[in-house]
Amino acid sequence: MLKLREIEYNLVVQAVREASLKAAFELPADVHDALERARRVETHPRARRILDQLLENARLAAAERIPICQDTGLVVVFVEQGAEVWVVPPKDNPRATLADAINEGIAAAYEEGFLRKSVVAEPLGKRVNTTTNTPAIIHYEILAGDGLRISLMAKGGGCENKSQFRMFNPTASEEEVKNWIVDVVKSAGPNACPPFVVGVGMGGNFEQSCLLSKKALLRDIGSSHILPFYDRLENDLLEAVNAAGLGPQGLGGKTTALAVLIEIAPCHIASLPVAVNIECHAHRHAHLTL
Ligand code: SF4
Repeated sequence: MLKLREIEYNLVVQAVREASLKAAFELPADVHDALERARRVETHPRARRILDQLLENARLAAAERIPICQDTGLVVVFVEQGAEVWVVPPKDNPRATLADAINEGIAAAYEEGFLRKSVVAEPLGKRVNTTTNTPAIIHYEILAGDGLRISLMAKGGGCENKSQFRMFNPTASEEEVKNWIVDVVKSAGPNACPPFVVGVGMGGNFEQSCLLSKKALLRDIGSSHILPFYDRLENDLLEAVNAAGLGPQGLGGKTTALAVLIEIAPCHIASLPVAVNIECHAHRHAHLTL
């Protein structure tokens, strides 16, 4: 009989707690490097000043363990769970799940780090704050093996609000799709806190393209798409977006986005779904493997 690898529930709680705190205080290296690269090539004086301020803000946040932004985000989690691994629930709560462990870790981090709790229990009624910044939004993928990888992102509301979806006719040209993506980024404007990281999901169906646009944001800025066609498309889109002149904080300049990252999936012959998930410069993400 197959023996499952066991991971203690509390190990997951503590790992998620630490990753959530790290995400809130430390701008990931790929985002930091992208901001520095942008600062080197930016020629607009005000844009250069803003990029300097963003880098200084990141330095201070890490040094003093204070949040990079006051909006400490709704946590989105991607779990890659091996089919041969089991998170062992605590003895006093034998029905506790992996989701419980993840939410417990997030709640502990937001309490300990004095991070703003930004989650309301339901969307259109009284909108009462859950006071724990949970539940997180958790996506699961079951893989072969006995590994457990958890990636999380603290996603700000201002940029998330500017994300869009469109179902194209499958005969749409590359130009048509590109123009729409650039328009979405331009229309995101200053409220979404540029420079952006732009996640694009293409293919799948209605819901999968949106999920892919979020997942795309987890790829390291500066990495290349494995398919040459989409690698070229990412570069073309980044160039077009930055030529639009929105600039850091929407006050003009060459740096409207730090990256465009695309995830794709097969789709129906009659469909061409495209989703754009806008992420701000406070692109807080962390990854852990247990
Ligand atoms: S969009 Fe990003 S940088 Fe702007 S307030 Fe929200 S989390 Fe902060």
